[in-house]
Amino acid sequence: MSNASRYDVIVIGGGPNGLLAGAYLAKAGSRVLLLERRHETGGGLNTDEYYGFRLNLHAVYHMMADLMPAQRDLNLSALGVRYLHPEIGVAFPYRDGSSLLFSGDPAATARSIETLCPADALAYRRMWDEFQPMLDQYLIPMTYQLPEPAVDQMIEFDKTPVGARLGEISEHSFVELIDEYGFSDPRVRMALLAFPAMWGLNLDDPLGFLFPLYLCRLLGAGLVKGGSHRLSSAIYRSFLRDGGTVLDMSEASEILMQDGRAVGVQTQDGRRFEARAVISTLNPEQTFLQLIGEEKLPEDLRHAAKAWEWEERSLFGLHLGIHGRVRYRANDDRVNDAMIVLCGLESEDELHQHLERVDSGRESECRWLHATLPTRFDRTMAPPGHELIRAEAVVNYDQPWQTEATAFGDSVIALLREYADVDDIVFRREHTPRDIEAKLTSMKRGSFKHGAYNTLQLGFLRPNHLCSQSETPIPGLFVGGASLYPGGMILGGPGYIAAGVVGDFLERDR
Ligand SMILES: Cc1cc2nc3c(=O)[nH]c(=O)nc-3n(C[C@H](O)[C@H](O)[C@H](O)COP(=O)(O)OP(=O)(O)OC[C@H]3O[C@@H](n4cnc5c(N)ncnc54)[C@H](O)[C@@H]3O)c2cc1C
Repeated sequence: MSNASRYDVIVIGGGPNGLLAGAYLAKAGSRVLLLERRHETGGGLNTDEYYGFRLNLHAVYHMMADLMPAQRDLNLSALGVRYLHPEIGVAFPYRDGSSLLFSGDPAATARSIETLCPADALAYRRMWDEFQPMLDQYLIPMTYQLPEPAVDQMIEFDKTPVGARLGEISEHSFVELIDEYGFSDPRVRMALLAFPAMWGLNLDDPLGFLFPLYLCRLLGAGLVKGGSHRLSSAIYRSFLRDGGTVLDMSEASEILMQDGRAVGVQTQDGRRFEARAVISTLNPEQTFLQLIGEEKLPEDLRHAAKAWEWEERSLFGLHLGIHGRVRYRANDDRVNDAMIVLCGLESEDELHQHLERVDSGRESECRWLHATLPTRFDRTMAPPGHELIRAEAVVNYDQPWQTEATAFGDSVIALLREYADVDDIVFRREHTPRDIEAKLTSMKRGSFKHGAYNTLQLGFLRPNHLCSQSETPIPGLFVGGASLYPGGMILGGPGYIAAGVVGDFLERDR
């Protein structure tokens, strides 16, 4: 093998996590090769342009926009990333003209809740008084640290009153939590449960620690000016500037092994590359069962990879180009200033019934959507005189999307028009769970988190107890994508964590 094909590290997958892992390691002086299956890097940070409309087909609301260490460490603003932070993060208009507006300011949100239910406004303040220190002292910093086994984590939490309370809520479900804080209005309860539900989470699972995280992540989220792909371009440029090599149209087909150790990667077209460390940002089935092969895995790892669970729920996206404008008809016009508008369901019961129908594959028309109007904040997203809407619905992967996509898209438009005046639609594009999977093979079954979030696949158990420190039982092989703690979405956590672990490994291995 020529010297040109030897690297310190090979990263498989050029999504946000692979790019970040590569950029950090290249910045630290390692010789890094990144292999990407598609014609461009970015993964879930995708922006496609059609007739002047810029469509963020995947990630749009960046959940840890300003909190991601890479913003500072890689100086991403100097490389072109500009976040737009609408003051109102999330709005819920209701058919009677009332609405709820959520912002990063709990007092402002409480004032909005007060218009529907004064007691719930007090409950919201009480809840945030508890959540804020949990976020500041534990949950936000922990996003960028290796996870600890649950027992050790609980012992650590118990050392402070804030930690002890966090430990307590961690054992509750989302529904139990809003019961505990005493929320009573069905619209307020629905709105609060929507924060985890819109990302497909099961409301009865004991994942209470995710509740403050999802509120904080969405209410602090930002849109990237010019489209989500600008973030991946900036990380890409940082990577190249520090000497990294990117090969696109280069699908990894095998992780090369020698004496039980990962020593390189072979691509689909037969090229072979050697490295001291390999980081896979793909899902566990791809990394272990396909790229290595069941027969070469230690038994416990084979068992863990085969036990990986997918989620039932995925997302259906509809992107509409509008000649003219879009205007929600809520009494409070500030609904039109919100980054995300959720409409269709108006009580907690409706939400539970809807999710049940989605899970059983019986929801053939859209009854609940979240929408964003990027052109409201960024005129570069559509041609002059036009608006762009992106509407998304939680759906079941197993519906026959090949034949149902257009009709489902029609029902999205009908639902939108119940709440908003929408002028002439001059462009539309559906993006079904099948399209997600076809574009990004890492997102099997349209799973944008690379696998379900449940108690057995989170924290120290993500992707499993053998690999959650990024290092795997196979020497030289590391994981670093959304199937690693802290999971999916644009958090930049897995890639950052993997870079740190691999950096230490390279030092030791020198
Ligand atoms: C419809 C949709 C909407 C979303 N909305 C949001 C949102 O608003 N906010 C948010 O924070 N997150 C959102 N997400 C989730 C977010 O996009 C993902 O969780 C995130 O992209 C995961 O990053 P990753 O780097 O781990 O993996 P990916 O982004 O999946 O990247 C993996 C990369 O590996 C490549 N690859 C696959 N197989 C191979 C191979 N064999 N060899 C080489 N390369 C390979 C893929 O092409 C891809 O580029 C959304 C996702 C979807 C699908």
